[in-house]
Amino acid sequence: MNLNSPVTYIKGVSVARAELLYSELGVKTCRDLLHLFPFRYVDKTQFYTINQLQQNSSEVQIVGKITGIKTVKQKRGSRLVAIFSDSTGTMELVWFKGAKWIKDNLKVNVPYVIYGKLNWYGGKASMPHPEMETVQAYKSKLQMAMQPVYPSTEKLSNKGITNKVVRGMMMNLFQQFFSTIEESLPQYLIDKHELIAKKESLLNIHFPKSQELLAKAQYRLKFEELFFIQLQLLQKKLIRKSKLKGFVFGEVGEKFTEFYSNHLPFSLTNAQKRVLKEIRKDVGSGAHMNRLLQGDVGSGKTIVALLTMLLSIDNGYQATIMAPTEILAIQHYNGIAQLLENTSIKVDLLTGSTKTKKRREIHAGLEEGSLHILIGTHAILEDKVQFNNLGIAIIDEQHRFGVEQRSRLWKKGRQVEGEELVPPHILVMTATPIPRTLAMSVYGDLDVSVIDELPPGRKEIKTVHRYDSHRLGVFKFLKDEIEKGRQVYVVYPLIQESEAMDYKDLMDGYESIAREFPSPKYQISIVHGQMKPADKDYEMDRFVKGETQIMVATTVIEVGVNVPNASVMVIESAERFGLSQLHQLRGRVGRGAEQSFCILLSSYKLSSDGKTRLKTMVDTSDGFKIAEVDLKLRGPGNIMGTQQSGVLNLKIADVVKDSPILHVARKTAIETINDDPALAKPENDRLNKIISQLRKKTGIWSNIS
Ligand code: ADP
Ligand code: MG
Repeated sequence: MNLNSPVTYIKGVSVARAELLYSELGVKTCRDLLHLFPFRYVDKTQFYTINQLQQNSSEVQIVGKITGIKTVKQKRGSRLVAIFSDSTGTMELVWFKGAKWIKDNLKVNVPYVIYGKLNWYGGKASMPHPEMETVQAYKSKLQMAMQPVYPSTEKLSNKGITNKVVRGMMMNLFQQFFSTIEESLPQYLIDKHELIAKKESLLNIHFPKSQELLAKAQYRLKFEELFFIQLQLLQKKLIRKSKLKGFVFGEVGEKFTEFYSNHLPFSLTNAQKRVLKEIRKDVGSGAHMNRLLQGDVGSGKTIVALLTMLLSIDNGYQATIMAPTEILAIQHYNGIAQLLENTSIKVDLLTGSTKTKKRREIHAGLEEGSLHILIGTHAILEDKVQFNNLGIAIIDEQHRFGVEQRSRLWKKGRQVEGEELVPPHILVMTATPIPRTLAMSVYGDLDVSVIDELPPGRKEIKTVHRYDSHRLGVFKFLKDEIEKGRQVYVVYPLIQESEAMDYKDLMDGYESIAREFPSPKYQISIVHGQMKPADKDYEMDRFVKGETQIMVATTVIEVGVNVPNASVMVIESAERFGLSQLHQLRGRVGRGAEQSFCILLSSYKLSSDGKTRLKTMVDTSDGFKIAEVDLKLRGPGNIMGTQQSGVLNLKIADVVKDSPILHVARKTAIETINDDPALAKPENDRLNKIISQLRKKTGIWSNIS
């Protein structure tokens, strides 16, 4: 009999109850029950008198007597009402169910302690289904100051497994198993971080002796939970680095130096330089690089990508960039081809619409190695595309690529007969800022570089929120800006669930703009997902060339499009967009020398989250700050890329609220792994044991990349 025994080993847990605990809460073993943590506590140190009760007091405890009982008929059945009074007043206790049993057991004129939620009706308080016991019984028991409230479901409470019952099970569990609870952290960590012992923390999380001990118990358990996740992630990273061979880009050669000295159109920001150094260290190490490059829109990731590719070429390897859409691939191609114009480096473009003849030419160039850089869409992943010697693959806007596609990219590496495949280094670039706290938990096993600085001279985009009724004022403003030679985006939401309606909104919007901005004075482009790609490109192209002044679009323009002369972004029904989407859209302007503007239009009807989102956009343009707010509003479950990580299964810690603890836990895990990578030292016995158990159990070890 130990903690791994089924819960039926606990006194008072029948097979039927055990089945319910499992189906409703996933609790199977005694250990599971021990780790079913209360989600809040009720403070039973405080008593109220009836005249102190207020509309906003949530749950209260009162001492008084029942002075009368009556049954009141109602539409269906009846309810039982008891008149309850203390020296200050009178209130009603109400039962809708189990009236008979209660009526038979209630004692009149005996002092009771009652506890429960209040209902207010016509200025008078009543308490439905109070918890109650006689003052005598109350006094005879050891009273806990803080009472735990456990997660529950309707089914559980209907079947009689109330919070009180769970508390009873928990008490029995502690009586039977307390001595078998083992310490999970090494003593040196417990001492260093002044943690309380495991036993004590579990006891106090369920039956807190005081606020102070509860806080200590919570800290210890949160720390431990986050620490073990970090340990696993770091070990996984270590294994990847030591086991997986990578090409060595040992030297900075002629092509890199030539470009850097003669063709770089600006000097790099410090952040760009730092990131480049981080990448060089990786690709020079002999290990495989799997690095995430985060940088806000406009922070200059492309040039970092290009310089990294030049490193690859200098060392005799080819390089590739994949973009999620054809428009973006073309844009990358145009930009990079222009930068490389007066160099000897060969670069080409491969997309779904590349003609067969051109395609053959590209295939040949890749195979013989004369083509150095290939830029394209997922067309690059086709089997026919074979590189001579692919050294690095760069993925722009990572989240658009699935795991399957990434593994195909992996296989474009070098496969010599009889030897292990060497995959290309991978650099994933994303403009979706992942809050640092989350990045640590989610990508703890990847290397993350951050460009946290914008190139100099960027003007802050002026952002305002306007209600629909100010639309005429907004149109007037647009006319003035167009008069100055600027271009304008007007973006409509397109949400899958209401697609038909949204297209109608888009078309209505387009018509009203066409009326307000008549041709030939004004030219308007329109781009949306239901258009043929060729038509989309045509419209996009006219806007890029400046032939149209207004681009009406759905969010297809969200990612990456670069039209420096476009300086106004109008977002219709802005309250319907998520924060990160709003931020991405705003990033389409502010790319040129002119002052740029973002106008968020909304209806008057705003949810509180909607208000927060719009206010955040108006207040800040820092992508990381915006991402933090987003994380707070939506929780980690909805943030890109969190699905595979451990952060969603946390039992007690919260990646947002407990980020200070996360930092300590991560730092500690790094120190531990640096000192003892295999956790083989005797003082790390406990860690080793738990990590091996976790390894068997969790999916955290499945390969993310
Ligand atoms: P993103 O990170 O969004 O992909 P880009 O790489 O497209 O950003 O860069 C945005 C713009 O900033 C481009 O026009 C680029 O030429 C310019 N840029 C990048 N780095 C610098 C720099 N260090 N100094 C000045 N301009 C820069
Ligand atoms: Mg980009």
